[in-house]
Amino acid sequence: MKYISTRGTAPALSFEEAMLTGLARDGGLYVPESWPQMSTAEIAALAGLSYEEVAYRVMRPFVGETFTDDAFRGIIERAYAVFGHAARCPLVQIEPNHYLLELFHGPTLAFKDVAMQLIGQMFQVSLSRSGRRVTIVGATSGDTGSAAIEAFKGLDAVDVFIMYPHGRVSEVQRRQMTTPVEDNVHALAVAGDFDDCQARLKDMFNDFEFRDEVGLAGVNSINWARVLAQVVYYFTSAVSLGAPHRPVCFTVPTGNFGDIFAAYVAKRMGLPIERLVIATNQNDILHRTLQTGAHEKAGVRPSISPSMDIQVSSNFERLVFDLYDREGGAVAQLMDALKTDGRFDLSQGALARLRDEFDSGRVSEEECSAAIRDGFASFGEVLCPHSATGVKVAQDHLGAVPMITLATAHPAKFPAAVKDATGIHPDLPQRMADLFDRDERVTPVDNDLAAIEAVIRKARA
Ligand SMILES: *Cc1c(COP(=O)(O)O)cnc(C)c1O
Repeated sequence: MKYISTRGTAPALSFEEAMLTGLARDGGLYVPESWPQMSTAEIAALAGLSYEEVAYRVMRPFVGETFTDDAFRGIIERAYAVFGHAARCPLVQIEPNHYLLELFHGPTLAFKDVAMQLIGQMFQVSLSRSGRRVTIVGATSGDTGSAAIEAFKGLDAVDVFIMYPHGRVSEVQRRQMTTPVEDNVHALAVAGDFDDCQARLKDMFNDFEFRDEVGLAGVNSINWARVLAQVVYYFTSAVSLGAPHRPVCFTVPTGNFGDIFAAYVAKRMGLPIERLVIATNQNDILHRTLQTGAHEKAGVRPSISPSMDIQVSSNFERLVFDLYDREGGAVAQLMDALKTDGRFDLSQGALARLRDEFDSGRVSEEECSAAIRDGFASFGEVLCPHSATGVKVAQDHLGAVPMITLATAHPAKFPAAVKDATGIHPDLPQRMADLFDRDERVTPVDNDLAAIEAVIRKARA
């Protein structure tokens, strides 16, 4: 399996190269050159298997020669052994024909763990056989950083540095980043906001001398391996409701379009998904795109579902590539327009194709809070604000086909919003009940590239 760039001019890469590279050199994103197919019989045979076995069968064709069968099985086993639920991603019914897919049983209580745990193990196997060592640097508004630290801590082929905006993440999120004791992981509290952290990260990748010196690598959400890991739970949940003999619909709380793009991949592989519903908060660029065909940035407005406060949904480019018959030149033009004019218009044909498979809905702050309250009152589920956004939009799209809504984080990760809506303070799961007693280790840094690079050089040595 080869991977090609959505902008058409970067060289095709193997799975391993695409995983370690992240962004293509022409500015595009890597996608498989074709979608592997699973037959009806192959999908039916997934029924009753463990999460790990389904993961192996679904992902195997994408990985090619990068890992042997045995090595890949080992990677998957180690990745999910740390999850706090035997089913890994369990499905629960909340109302007639409506189900919740719980993706928050990983070590940091958000769905980011599902992918990050897997790529931690994949990086480790790939790097140790080549004797290479890399420095992973990431910027986070909360969930991605803690998931990366948990996934890479204690692995000997990587050092990890996560920049977060000082004073602007929740206490649970901060403690998840600052309390791991392994000395290859480092939390950096940057004197600035999330945009500053992202800007410094970009500067660092453009500082080629530093980049080569430390072997800089990225694990942000455009990394293909992260999307791939998320394809698996669409199969496990759909099959448990009767696929391939019965279709399902999914509603996905969406920010960067990574999670819902994974659902689209599952559909392309043959999983019978009837409708894919995009749920956004007040940062609704994707909802407006579906309504009007204009993909137009507006300023980010902070919300109570902060992990979806995003204006540029990077992974949308992967879908646009398919909507335009995989013509890299057309995608490059649209993305240039987005960069210079802050917008582009989908062609009539592309918009029709988009609407053929996707629906969307937008949830205001008040509606989100009401959905958290109603969820508890009517079906006894304490929802995080992101999951509540999904549930609300899903309820507007319920029909004859079973609906599965993704629950992307545990409510204890966003206690203030949950308490405001329900009066209940959501407790952390038992296995991390002592989070507030653990010692914190964090390095404060100025919002300055040279200062951040100096900290990284020193800590690696
Ligand atoms: C990252 C995140 C999302 C958005 O997922 P995308 O793949 O960026 O669309 C939704 N909910 C939570 C809790 C998240 O951490």
